[in-house]
Amino acid sequence: MTSKFMWASFFLISASSFGQEGGRGGGGAPSIADDATEQQIKSAVATVRVGRKLTPASWSNGARVAVCFTVDIDNETLQRRNPLPVPLSGGEYGATTGLPRILALLDHEQIPATFFIPAMSAMLHPEMIPAILKNSRNDIGLHGWVHESWPSITDMALEERLLDQSIEYLTRATGTRPIGVRAPSSAFSLHSLELIRKAGLQYDSSLMGMDEPYEIMSNGKRAGIIEIPMSNILNDYEYYGENATGALPSPEALFEIYKGEFDLAYRERTLVSIMLHPHVSGHRSRVLQVEKFIDYMKSKPDVWFASMREVAAYIRKQDGSLREQTKQ
Ligand SMILES: [Zn+2]
Repeated sequence: MTSKFMWASFFLISASSFGQEGGRGGGGAPSIADDATEQQIKSAVATVRVGRKLTPASWSNGARVAVCFTVDIDNETLQRRNPLPVPLSGGEYGATTGLPRILALLDHEQIPATFFIPAMSAMLHPEMIPAILKNSRNDIGLHGWVHESWPSITDMALEERLLDQSIEYLTRATGTRPIGVRAPSSAFSLHSLELIRKAGLQYDSSLMGMDEPYEIMSNGKRAGIIEIPMSNILNDYEYYGENATGALPSPEALFEIYKGEFDLAYRERTLVSIMLHPHVSGHRSRVLQVEKFIDYMKSKPDVWFASMREVAAYIRKQDGSLREQTKQ
């Protein structure tokens, strides 16, 4: 994902060099009026809400914390609206160098990850998917057709068509139907949850209502979708931005943030999900800090490194009511 907040601030600086994904787009939700009633307030926020916690008493093999690395392969998609050679090459770096470097690290550490891939990224670099699937524990999830902003698509039928064709594309490319999604820029429209449900997906990782997995509620009803939340605190893009100038912040500062997030998750026995972008964190000085972070986590006992597919499967195995709910 790339945060809408980030885009908003970049737009102020240089609208022309980024040229896309500004703020909330045209398809946002109706605002809550100054004189809204309690009923109006409650119904205005009801489309997607936090339901019950889904963290099990313990994770696989008695682990006290689950750690999910996620890799959003945005690459050239972020230059889609103004595809000029130099910024495109910054996106290409994600495929040629960033992703192979991250995969080599994960392979060396023997830990799986979840890769959210816009279909456009897979089209431009078809070699990425076989490279990811060399580790059979890795999970590939949806991240849009061309990293389109769902709230900006005011036509629900078009949003559905793009979701469906993204599923078809990844199914063909990977040989397995995806079960998870992270919305491009982590941005839901008011229709997105309904479309995700209709498509039969099992988990989402776009929301940030808690630090641990929860069931999504929609208009007071259980949606049967497992939310494995993301957090902008663990999103490399928030710190380094698009230009990868390498100036600041120090990659070492990010290690301290990663460490703090992990330490409290470990104490609270929940989950950490880390978001990397290959064209951002795949740079040399940054990947070294990711490696240091993995080594730090590995120095603790009872840590389960898992893909989001594995986390969702584990939760569903523990929770019969969720299985029943999803069948409806
Ligand atoms: Zn993204």
